[in-house]
Amino acid sequence: MIQDLKELLSLVPSIDEILRTSTVARIAEIAGLRRATDLAREAAESVRKELRERSVTDPTRESLLKESERRVDAAWRLEQRSGIRRVINATGVVIHTNLGRAPLSAKAREAIVAASGYCNLEYDLETGRRGRRGARAEILLAEITGAEASLIVNNCAAAAFLVLRVLAGGGEVIISRGELVEIGGDFRVPDVLAESGARLHEVGTTNRTKVEDYRRAINVETQMILRVHPSNYRIVGFTSAPEVSELAQLARENGLVLYEDAGSGALRDLSEFGLGDEPIISRSIRDGADIVTFSGDKLFGGVQAGLIVGRAERIDEIRRHPLYRALRIDKLAYAAIEATLEAYRRDELSEIPVMRMLSMPIGEIESRAKRLADRLNENANLSAELVSGDSVVGGGSAPLARRPTCLVSLTHESLSASALDAALRASDPPVIARIEDERVLLDLRTVEENDDDDLARMLAILGDGR
Ligand SMILES: *Cc1c(COP(=O)(O)O)cnc(C)c1O
Repeated sequence: MIQDLKELLSLVPSIDEILRTSTVARIAEIAGLRRATDLAREAAESVRKELRERSVTDPTRESLLKESERRVDAAWRLEQRSGIRRVINATGVVIHTNLGRAPLSAKAREAIVAASGYCNLEYDLETGRRGRRGARAEILLAEITGAEASLIVNNCAAAAFLVLRVLAGGGEVIISRGELVEIGGDFRVPDVLAESGARLHEVGTTNRTKVEDYRRAINVETQMILRVHPSNYRIVGFTSAPEVSELAQLARENGLVLYEDAGSGALRDLSEFGLGDEPIISRSIRDGADIVTFSGDKLFGGVQAGLIVGRAERIDEIRRHPLYRALRIDKLAYAAIEATLEAYRRDELSEIPVMRMLSMPIGEIESRAKRLADRLNENANLSAELVSGDSVVGGGSAPLARRPTCLVSLTHESLSASALDAALRASDPPVIARIEDERVLLDLRTVEENDDDDLARMLAILGDGR
């Protein structure tokens, strides 16, 4: 018998009834009563809608209450997952822009916690007076790069903008056509230049630019020579670009500023990791660049920041500009950068996760992978095997910068690769993997060692659950 609609709708639980269910009562404790009430109202409304459409089979008071409870739970889970959460990066991409780029060292994490209350951000403990913001980080940064001075802003894009705005002074900036690149979607060198008020003067060709090309372009309007590291873009084959030292000499002879945007850059020679193309900051400074900028959360291995190093006089000009105030960083970022710089100064590169991951011997990855695969193979629903592959450096480093690795290739008795991948993303903490040829691939190079157990536990749950 088709029930009367009015009678059906009377079976929908009240908001109070939904709030009293055990799941929703627990959610109310975390989310607050107001949010829980809204979620309960939305759940009841969606149940009511389906009753009107007659798409509910066997509607009873009890089943509708259960269903409402389930819907509140699902909505709340979805809402929570959209906030910032820790994830396990099993993609093998070391500097993964979508996953927060560089993971911080243990000391940097401690430093952030320590600075999160009151701290001496702009207070000199010696004199009891106002001190310079970020002074210690700036001193360390200058010392490690061999520069006269340094300044730290919000990110490398902000650094580039500020340097061009302050030091190119609305005049002309000479740049090679091979360096007019776009990096990661919204950083386009010509656009940043235009916004800074400087005028672009392109020289050379896409693949080859000579010192003479720069020299011929110099005129009364010229303020700066800009060199941009093309980062994740490469032209190979018949190419040439002048050395920093050659451009430095040209700049000096003509009273111009030589500025290098190194992008990721490196504080050490990383050619043994296939990163021989990355500008080494101290080398650029030694070779005569007046200003060099690089990112705080790429190969450096710290937080989002734009690190500016160079001549004291130029750095002072930038610091005094009103825009610096708008682009400066907060105390937590200083704390993390300071701790990361300390590790470089002690030469303890293995403290910095990015460096540790890049230099991790394949044998170590293989033994961790084998332990994980053995554990997973105990589960009848899962099948894991080791395959060789590549980890990717990422973060705007050379597109071909890869490290050989050992992958755990995973298949599930009844789940497709994409369903298994989705289940991994839905786990707590979410695990981000990659899919190739209908297999889920896990690269432990980018999984922090103390996450191995969490990872094994979550995979085992997936194996049991379905
Ligand atoms: C990545 C990159 C930037 C932007 O750096 P952010 O710190 O992400 O703002 C600028 N220039 C170059 C050459 C880069 O590689």
